[in-house]
Amino acid sequence: MNGFEKWLPSLHYDPAQIKRRLNSEKIKPEAVTIDAENLSAVIVGSDPEPYIVTLEECTCYDFCARGLPCKHIYRLADELGLLEPWPKIDRKGQKALLAAASAEIDRWRDEFLAGRISPAKYIKISDALMSK
Ligand SMILES: [Zn+2]
Repeated sequence: MNGFEKWLPSLHYDPAQIKRRLNSEKIKPEAVTIDAENLSAVIVGSDPEPYIVTLEECTCYDFCARGLPCKHIYRLADELGLLEPWPKIDRKGQKALLAAASAEIDRWRDEFLAGRISPAKYIKISDALMSK
């Protein structure tokens, strides 16, 4: 047991959690001090006090507010080799998906024209579906 198992694996694939993991990769190495023996870290962030991080909790606002892994916990887990690597990009599959996305965009255009989503949301969905 390392503490990270307390989180359901499916939680890490929630878009809000993926965003945190991506943000964890932006933390500069010099801000992170890992204590591998104790499975913990001290991470300097935007607060005056550095964050005390374990695989189960963190002293940052995000963790205190949500009680779910924050970017600091993901960074620690990554440094300790506990995260699955990101899925490998499948270029062929990506092309087929883009073709399917255009049909999906047509469907969302109908939602927009029917007044069920705003023009801004329609554009966001369209941009998201066409991005790589
Ligand atoms: Zn944190």
